[in-house]
Amino acid sequence: MNLTNIGTVKEILSRHGFSFSKGLGQNFIINPDICPKIAENGNACKGFGVLEIGTGIGVLTAELAKRADKVTAVEIDTRLLPILEETLADFDNVKIINEDVMKCDLHKLIDEEFSGLKTAVCANLPYYITSPIIMMLLESRLPIESITVMVQKEAAQRLCAKVGTRDSGAITVGVNYFGTVKKLFDVSRGSFMPAPNVDSAVIRIDLNSEHRLDEESERFFFKVVKAGFEQRRKTLANALSSIMGIPKDKVYAALGSIGLPETARIEQLDMEQLVAFAAEIGKN
Ligand code: SAM
Repeated sequence: MNLTNIGTVKEILSRHGFSFSKGLGQNFIINPDICPKIAENGNACKGFGVLEIGTGIGVLTAELAKRADKVTAVEIDTRLLPILEETLADFDNVKIINEDVMKCDLHKLIDEEFSGLKTAVCANLPYYITSPIIMMLLESRLPIESITVMVQKEAAQRLCAKVGTRDSGAITVGVNYFGTVKKLFDVSRGSFMPAPNVDSAVIRIDLNSEHRLDEESERFFFKVVKAGFEQRRKTLANALSSIMGIPKDKVYAALGSIGLPETARIEQLDMEQLVAFAAEIGKN
């Protein structure tokens, strides 16, 4: 079944009485070049199990299933299940889990679904929840090799920014702490049905197998980073005292220890400075 043929897609959707949910970020890929490229760049190959987030009608799922040993996909919208039964009928290596990915126990899922395989994540992410999903995947310390996802162009810019610059955000620190990120290619808005108001890009994060901090220090590190970026226009001292109740003098001392002025804002700190700063703040 050709899931990038607009006529075919419209016929299936109307036969099932399906209407797009804007709230669930439902923009399905109809450009035939995109899904094979995501699959080929996203570790969908022999020896891999692929976790997909958000199947839509299964256009990417099918390309992943052609290449990987197994695909397990988490899709929140129950209305898509009968459609997927039809569109993915030719594949015996696909399993759909009807859940909210943010509530899913992904450690258990990977353990149960991909035993003996390496794991990769591939997705055309629902835009309303891109950063929370990526942060959740990273912070859960899942045993995954890579995350290859389509995101809105602005989100891709933030993800691929340099830590310590104005374009960076908590998510930039997240991807650079847990791995390395690169932009693979741009995707125009006309590649989707319905077409969104912005263009997109596919990025790939390759995850480090080791972590530079223990779990507790890591949690504290990201608490500090998120608080700093939540009030990014304020000085770190103001942001951390108002959000985390940390005394300003403590922030000044920590900034001083890494050679920065009391007026420093979070977006001025590079990765090494952020790690050292959070370690100082975390000391009793
Ligand atoms: N992969 C399909 C494609 O590329 O055509 C669909 C991508 S569409 C941008 C996002 C998909 O994620 C939709 O199918 C939507 O129902 C699903 N979704 C939205 N929120 C979700 C959540 N919290 N957990 C799991 N799936 C979700």
